[in-house]
Amino acid sequence: MRYSNFFLPTTKETPAEAEVISHQLLLRAGCIRKLTSGLYTYLPLGLMALQKVAAIVREEMNRAGAQELLMPMVQPADLWQESGRWQQYGHELLRFKDRHGRDYCLGPTHEEVITDIARRELHSYRQLPVNLYQVQTKFRDEIRPRFGLMRGREFVMKDAYSFDCDDAGASKSYEIMKEAYHRIFKRCGLRFRAVEADTGSIGGSYSHEFMVLAETGEDTLVICNDCEYAANVEKAAVVLPDDDTAHAEPVPLARVETPGVKKVERVADFLGVTPQDIIKTMVYLVDGEPVAALVRGDRQVQEVKLKNALGATEVEPLADDQVWKLTKLPVGYMGPVQVSIRVVADQEVMRMRNAVAGANEKGMHLTGVNPGHDFTPDVVGDLRQITIEDQCPACGGSLSLTEGIEVGHIFKLGTKYSQAMEATFQDADGQEKPFVMGCYGIGVSRVVAAAIEQNHDEHGIIFPLPLAPFQVIILNLGLKDEKITKAAEELYMALQEQGVEVLFDDRDERPGSKFKDADLIGIPFRVTVGKTYAKDGQVELRNRATGETELIPFNEAVATISAMIRDGLAQAG
Ligand SMILES: [Zn+2]
Repeated sequence: MRYSNFFLPTTKETPAEAEVISHQLLLRAGCIRKLTSGLYTYLPLGLMALQKVAAIVREEMNRAGAQELLMPMVQPADLWQESGRWQQYGHELLRFKDRHGRDYCLGPTHEEVITDIARRELHSYRQLPVNLYQVQTKFRDEIRPRFGLMRGREFVMKDAYSFDCDDAGASKSYEIMKEAYHRIFKRCGLRFRAVEADTGSIGGSYSHEFMVLAETGEDTLVICNDCEYAANVEKAAVVLPDDDTAHAEPVPLARVETPGVKKVERVADFLGVTPQDIIKTMVYLVDGEPVAALVRGDRQVQEVKLKNALGATEVEPLADDQVWKLTKLPVGYMGPVQVSIRVVADQEVMRMRNAVAGANEKGMHLTGVNPGHDFTPDVVGDLRQITIEDQCPACGGSLSLTEGIEVGHIFKLGTKYSQAMEATFQDADGQEKPFVMGCYGIGVSRVVAAAIEQNHDEHGIIFPLPLAPFQVIILNLGLKDEKITKAAEELYMALQEQGVEVLFDDRDERPGSKFKDADLIGIPFRVTVGKTYAKDGQVELRNRATGETELIPFNEAVATISAMIRDGLAQAG
């Protein structure tokens, strides 16, 4: 492609409306333009990147045995009424009527349509398993669309749906998709992790999120430096190291006066101990009942974990005046010894010896508190948030914190939709049974944004080679020099003959702005044909990601560049 003919409107200014880097750079690099809130046009450069992602997704889905189809974006309400989601889905579902007054919606997802296809066309276990997918535009009427392609209202998604006879088959289909997803994101050249996820409203099933790692994301992840472990920081399990410390001899319980001393740090100072020696007691309302949650003085209770440890549906912290009203316990002086309400302790608390805790009496604390001896909690569990000082729950290795952007999500759906919509098949035993389903999404347009969030610098985008709209940009810096221009043209033709995707900057622009644009649009390799060619027959080759430059003889350029691209793509798998 000749830059002089290419529709590529780049801008110098950072648009004020764009809060995140991918949105800023997609606009500046002429990849997208906003139509209205949450709706974007993909300009040619942006569309090329999108199609690169889609091509990798299609190849790996096909390789995993899935088959592509294309469902309508407009869906009739009656299918959604059958599944129960017409009422449940809320305002993200854009609903409208046709000229006959019939209700429709714009598809935010396609479980209903695909289940309808399955119940019409799949009748026997002999036809199973089946995995069908599409790459299609979805619409979700987000209340606050933002961040460009990260959270638009209209977006391109790959959604796949598997149909199996039974749970074992569905698990196999799920594993096949999980592997395919690993291959897809590796081939996209992205650093990512698969995270075990909450099933949310789907309930009782199993699910993984695929997260692209970036400096800014929507979720904070804890990842292992030594293995593939990754988890949402709120949910990551804390595994305590083996308890091999020599335990202090227990000392007897004693009451000490601590008038007006309430906060952990102040109690520690006052009594000459550390926060690690203090049992912190927090009161929560758990399914309507007050519960005392214990953690070490330097830790925080993680409410999601508290909820899970108690098998509760609702957990909320109690305000100080509520604590007194409901429990008659003095805030700041609460403790687990002879307390009147249910006690749940973090596992770490059970290892504490001769600890300090509130005495459940105003202005008083207890010393010499020994869990298991002086009190026995009703429940012991993992209640606190993991830290990077903890060990990897999977391998014992060291941990880091990072941000993550969700780009894929795979679910075991079970029979939720097939039962609601009476989608059944005849099994080998002659019985009619509901399909056991799975669904598997990839935010294709989101992958483009996430790739930029992960790969950019102050000069612009750094496209991973597999997603780059062009692999090489050639700058002709001698437009008025016949010899240089002839060489640049020759190189452009020769690289294309080798199957290399080339953008040829043949514009009559100053070198400075050619360099700036090349950096901004993030093409992985830049070849400059200019003065060094005229002088020594050499061209300059620069790697956008590393910034490394080298001079190579013109007549070796095609072979060198083709080999670098081959190697680069092979590395991504
Ligand atoms: Zn690990």
